[in-house]
Parts: sequence; structure tokens; C-alpha cells
Amino acid sequence: MLDAGFFAAWVEEAARSVLAGKDRLTRLDTAIGDGDHGTNLDRGLTAAVQALADHRPATPGALLVLVGGTLIRRVGGASGPLYGTAFREAGKALGEEPEVSPGALAGALEAAVDGVRSLGSAAEGDKTMVDALAPAVRALAQAVREGRDVREALDAAAAAARGGAEATVPMQARKGRASYLGPRSVGHEDPGAASAALLVEALRTVAA
Ligand code: ADP
Ligand code: MG
Ligand code: MG
Repeated sequence: MLDAGFFAAWVEEAARSVLAGKDRLTRLDTAIGDGDHGTNLDRGLTAAVQALADHRPATPGALLVLVGGTLIRRVGGASGPLYGTAFREAGKALGEEPEVSPGALAGALEAAVDGVRSLGSAAEGDKTMVDALAPAVRALAQAVREGRDVREALDAAAAAARGGAEATVPMQARKGRASYLGPRSVGHEDPGAASAALLVEALRTVAA
């Protein structure tokens, strides 16, 4: 049942997972950025969990819009507006329905990635969070089209996100801080792609 409770559970699981992975995200961002990605995202997701505890919106759409706004205010850095936009666009795409079908979820996540792409103007291959998000959304949409159930569809999305994050290792960054390093950005996983994989994996975890 993809209702507001499901999406609240996703945000809580994402916060737990980012807290557990905080040091790794920070290590990745120390290698090719400024070493704050783990703390940035942990701060934002902790604030989002708190916001939902204070007032949980009744619909998935309103809930994701609230989370997005919280991330924009609290994460900072490049990733705050990008993740914030992703959640807001997903929430707007869901409208006011009290429950979300797998197809609507896939459509909302497509809107999320489109939002990230238009704000950050990163394409796949630029070594950003888009390299994990875009394949995950494609895998999800395809699995839904094939009529697979939500759990299987999210399994496929999570695997695609992790694969997409790992595929950033040999890439040279063309967007964000890591791009200042030029060829020296090669050989490290992109921190935003790594955190994007955690978010998609958290979605799979709550659906299981
Ligand atoms: P900052 O770089 O400002 O310190 P963070 O460390 O929180 O912000 O986030 C860095 C991540 O943001 C990168 O690893 C990358 O995935 C993502 N990112 C940066 N710029 C862009 C962009 N233009 N489009 C998409 N993602 C981006
Ligand atoms: Mg950083
Ligand atoms: Mg920073």
C-alpha cells in the first residue's frame, strides 16, 4: 500500500541509511569535493524526519513536497537544492491522491530526475547523482510496464542505482565541485551518486 505511511517510512529508512553511511559519503566527498556530503544529507534528512513527526501530511504528494522543502532549507551545498527539487517534483507529480500506484510512483520519480536535470543541467556520464537516479528510474518504469509487482520493480531500481553509482568511478566529473579536479576526479565514486543509491535502496527496503 503506497500511502503516506509508506512514504514516511521511506524517509525514515533513508535517514537511517544515510546516518549509517555518513562517514563513507564524507570520505567520498573528501576525495573529490569538500568533505561535507555525509553531514549535509544527514542534517537534511534528520530535519525531514522531525518535520514529519511534527506534522505528517495526509497524502504522499504533500508529504514529499514537505520533505523537499525541508531539504532545500537544511542540506545546503549543491545537493540540497537538487535533492529538494527531486522530492518536490515527485510530490507535485503525485497530486492529492491518498494512495499511489506503481505506475504513478514511476512517473513521480521520472519527474524527480527531470527536476534534477533541469536545475543542475547534468547529463548521464557527468559523474553526479543523475548517474544513479536516471538508470534507477528507467529500471523502475520498465519493470512496472512489464507488470512486475512493486517489490520486484524496486529491487530492479535499487540494483540499477547501485550499478549507476559504481559506474561513476571511472568517469571524469563535468558538474559540481568535483569538476574542478578535471582528470583527478577519475577513480572515485561520486558522493551524490552514492547517496542517491542509498535513497533508492531505502525505498526498496520499505517495500520489502
Ligand atoms: P557541495 O558540492 O556543494 O559541497 P554536496 O557535497 O552536498 O555539495 O553534494 C555534492 C554532490 O552533488 C556531487 O557528488 C554530485 O552528485 C551532486 N551535484 C553537484 N553538482 C551537480 C549538478 N549540477 N547536477 C547534479 N548533481 C550535482
Ligand atoms: Mg560537498
Ligand atoms: Mg559543500
